[in-house]
Amino acid sequence: MRAPLQQIETSGQLPQAADAVVIGGGVVGVFAAYYLARRGMKVALVEKGRIGAEQSSRNWGWCRQQNRDARELPMATRSLDLWERFAAETGEDTGFRRCGLLYLSNDEAELAGWARWRDFARTAGVTTHMLDSAEAGERGRATGRTWKGGVFSPTDGTADPSQAAPAVARAILKLGGSVHQNCAARGIETEGGRLSGVVTEGGTIRTKVAIMAGGAWASSFCRQFGFRFPQASIRSSILSVSPGAEGLPDALHTARISATRRGDGGYTLAISGRGRVDVTPQQLRFSSQFVPMFLKRWRSLAPGGLEGMRSGHETLQRWRLDHPTPMERMRILDPVPDQATIRLTHARALELLPDLRRTKISAAWAGYIDSTPDGVPAIGEIQTVPGFFLAAGFSGHGFGIGPGAGYLVADLVTGSEPIVDPTSYDPRRFDAPAWGKVADF
Ligand SMILES: Cc1cc2nc3c(=O)[nH]c(=O)nc-3n(C[C@H](O)[C@H](O)[C@H](O)COP(=O)(O)OP(=O)(O)OC[C@H]3O[C@@H](n4cnc5c(N)ncnc54)[C@H](O)[C@@H]3O)c2cc1C
Repeated sequence: MRAPLQQIETSGQLPQAADAVVIGGGVVGVFAAYYLARRGMKVALVEKGRIGAEQSSRNWGWCRQQNRDARELPMATRSLDLWERFAAETGEDTGFRRCGLLYLSNDEAELAGWARWRDFARTAGVTTHMLDSAEAGERGRATGRTWKGGVFSPTDGTADPSQAAPAVARAILKLGGSVHQNCAARGIETEGGRLSGVVTEGGTIRTKVAIMAGGAWASSFCRQFGFRFPQASIRSSILSVSPGAEGLPDALHTARISATRRGDGGYTLAISGRGRVDVTPQQLRFSSQFVPMFLKRWRSLAPGGLEGMRSGHETLQRWRLDHPTPMERMRILDPVPDQATIRLTHARALELLPDLRRTKISAAWAGYIDSTPDGVPAIGEIQTVPGFFLAAGFSGHGFGIGPGAGYLVADLVTGSEPIVDPTSYDPRRFDAPAWGKVADF
């Protein structure tokens, strides 16, 4: 019952050298590799399991500006254009469509928050429409209910998580890059203090540039060479239903349930923000830095179990580069979904959207959402190891901004004018506490 994912054939032999090695084949890693390859660099991407198999295939697929934190909004806007351009540039289909996102509510405080965001978004040139009760009822007619109001963001959209990362990986191959699945990067080598190679389970690739886009595995990887990257993960459970429901919005958010149309005509159903905190050695290590985040989000979080220990992604172990590592023992981070959440999600969805009664549950899965203390990703070069770039910690909203994040990485690597101001993403900011800086949405 794992999240559906297109399987792709990738390269065989590892190159001995590359201009850049990208570690991790989620949406961030594949877009980084794609934009580097487009700039004429010889790129090798190594993925310990399958392309897209972790967070990037387990999400809702929302590509939104709506309700974005100010630090991510410019990247969200540029990413929407890049999603569109990618299809035109490559002929590959990520399932991206500007279908618009619909938010409905009966809570005055929530509606007031969306109105404040609309006013701020205007200053950034982003259009979003507040809906009055009649308009909300009309757009949300599939619920058969009355609503006090809502928001519709017409320029936002969705891409298909089951096909996006594989489509970008195919585009990398067409540009002459290589993509290696079942190939974990175990660590890095340096010469004269600079990055000189990436050690993988299949051999070492000589390179002056490496990008760590390993999602929930980034912190334990960085620990191997002494870089402290505070990261914690939340287990989020979600399900999909078969095609058959008619007249539903393509992408709907309410406080009780969210529903997103998938490429096959089925729907992904989830409860926004809800998750379980599984105890891990890394959670304990960084716990003090996550207090501000926890205080803001605790209402939707519940204690988990030992699932995180089994997964190994948040180990504090230091491993040898000539032995199998925790990444090779857990090719695909596939945590057990929380059955109580799955049942509740399904029941709420059938209640809110009666037409879903014509469908069946087709899959249920969980994903570990990797978060930073302020809920904003870390993108930038690690000063202590020139040539090593970090692009991780996308905190539950990295799918939609995957193209922009990958483009920014390519800008930073090549010393080009950055597509957005990278200051907010600087990994050095975690030296300071996150009080007052936790992202609102
Ligand atoms: C349930 C859920 C719903 C979500 N909904 C949305 C949404 O609607 N919109 C949105 O924008 N975001 C959403 N997100 C968040 C989004 O999915 C993530 O932010 C995004 O996919 C992160 O991409 P990534 O490439 O950084 O990480 P991942 O997709 O996790 O990819 C990292 C990859 O790196 C590989 N890797 C790790 N270490 C190594 C190594 N040492 N060597 C080789 N490979 C390695 C892993 O195997 C993995 O494939 C959601 C997430 C979840 C779980």
